[in-house]
Amino acid sequence: MPAANTHAFDQLHKLLEQLDRAEKMLELGPRRIAVAEKKVAAAQDACSAQKEEMQQLRKAADEVSLTLKTSEAGVAKHKQRLNDATANKEYQIIQGQITAAIAASGLLEDQVLNMLGDVDVAGEELSRLQQEVVTLQQKVVEVKAEVLSREPGLTVEIQRVTAEIAEVEKVIPGGEAKATYRRLRGAMGAAAMARMEDNYCSECNTAATPQDRVQMNMGEFILCRRCGRILYNPVQEADV
Ligand SMILES: [Zn+2]
Repeated sequence: MPAANTHAFDQLHKLLEQLDRAEKMLELGPRRIAVAEKKVAAAQDACSAQKEEMQQLRKAADEVSLTLKTSEAGVAKHKQRLNDATANKEYQIIQGQITAAIAASGLLEDQVLNMLGDVDVAGEELSRLQQEVVTLQQKVVEVKAEVLSREPGLTVEIQRVTAEIAEVEKVIPGGEAKATYRRLRGAMGAAAMARMEDNYCSECNTAATPQDRVQMNMGEFILCRRCGRILYNPVQEADV
């Protein structure tokens, strides 16, 4: 009965699609783990860069602090000289120097406070980045567990579908047709087959010739004249 063959082609295509999906899912697992691990590495790099930046900010703040101390020491020294001043003119000059040194110290003090504020902000950002590393590391653990838990099911499914395919692909006659099927399947997987939809190949939209249609209705092995895929009539609701 030709319809039986037509059903077998339809079934074969569905099984090949199922196998492709399961194999892709299985391959996806290690790729997902690699992506998650890459994110951890990127976050760790960001932490290192942030630590480096923090160290530089702290060093710069220390340097300005040192300048501030020198400036304050200068004020004390000028004040000492003021006590020792004898002439009025000298007194006024020193007084001017003290005023300038105090103003300079004030500016330096503001600068140091601002810089220490920057160090604090950088430290908060570092904490945030470190927390992110922990979160991403946790994510890797989760992804690994999920991938591992799915693997056995997918492996069993692949084995089962492969066995079913081996049974259903018997619909393809031996010799040249079988060799063509094996070559196409090896190269394209489930995409080696194409449904006929309203007389057109579902993959390349080429119309089937009347002769193709007759052969297809008889459940014969035919290839699309344009894209070379194995063409078949899909099972209609009414056929089932
Ligand atoms: Zn085609």
